[in-house]
Amino acid sequence: MPELPEVEITRRGFADRIAGAHIQSVRLGQPLRWPLGIAPAALTGRLVRGVRRRGKYLLMDLDHGVLLLHLGMSGRLHFWRDLEGDVPLMAPLPPLPPLPPLPLLPPLGRHDHFELRTDRGHLRLTDPRRFGAVVYAERETADPAAKLLHGLGMEPLSDNFDVQSFYAALHQRRAPIKQVLLTGDVVVGAGNIYACEALFAAGIRPTLRAHRISRARAQRLHTAVREVLARAIERGGSSLRDFAHVDGQLGYFQLEAKVYGRAGQPCLICGTPIRQLRQGQRSTFYCPQCQK
Ligand SMILES: [Zn+2]
Repeated sequence: MPELPEVEITRRGFADRIAGAHIQSVRLGQPLRWPLGIAPAALTGRLVRGVRRRGKYLLMDLDHGVLLLHLGMSGRLHFWRDLEGDVPLMAPLPPLPPLPPLPLLPPLGRHDHFELRTDRGHLRLTDPRRFGAVVYAERETADPAAKLLHGLGMEPLSDNFDVQSFYAALHQRRAPIKQVLLTGDVVVGAGNIYACEALFAAGIRPTLRAHRISRARAQRLHTAVREVLARAIERGGSSLRDFAHVDGQLGYFQLEAKVYGRAGQPCLICGTPIRQLRQGQRSTFYCPQCQK
């Protein structure tokens, strides 16, 4: 599943290129998770102002309205030009083996379920499992956008994610800290691997109840969450073609994971075997010595 870093890398791959483009047409394939919510022809002629990210949603601002894009479990966005001799402007994410140059935009494939043709290039969503979606809203604060974005926690890499707010929010949760991070209603983006790694970096036991975390430790966790996600984006952005990815769960970041997927192996700091346990439906990895 694409996590926040992959979504952010995807955004950076085409946001600057599509900003200022005019929509020429929209084509749909099979139904995605939610309906588009507007007649495709109604989008023709609209201007793409830019692409932002909120959690794992990409928000494409138009001169009138906004398109929310979500990659679901298996979605990938590609950005193409269809000039003769051109190649895709953006590698598929997670990347496949290098693609041969394509003289023309290929016809819609069986897993291509959304295509936005513009005068700057064509954005295509390929999504075999169809849990992804492209949804139109009149504005971000109107449904269905408002409903989809409601309840998302703070953006970990934004200035709004400050230590005081983080500590205050944790102080009100009695669930284990790992669960609180995964839920995403305090801070978004700390998916399973990132939550495990951030808790290790902060020296916090994943089962510790959130409201029992001191201010000093909340500060360390705040720093760790930001660093882990920033590092993943940096790694992904600099090695787009090196992902060992199959279906998104075990990405490039796992190559440098210190606890995730390392059950029974020695902790890189103290040598104690890394332990694994189940929390909710997910595996948690931690060092019983370094994390209290
Ligand atoms: Zn250790």
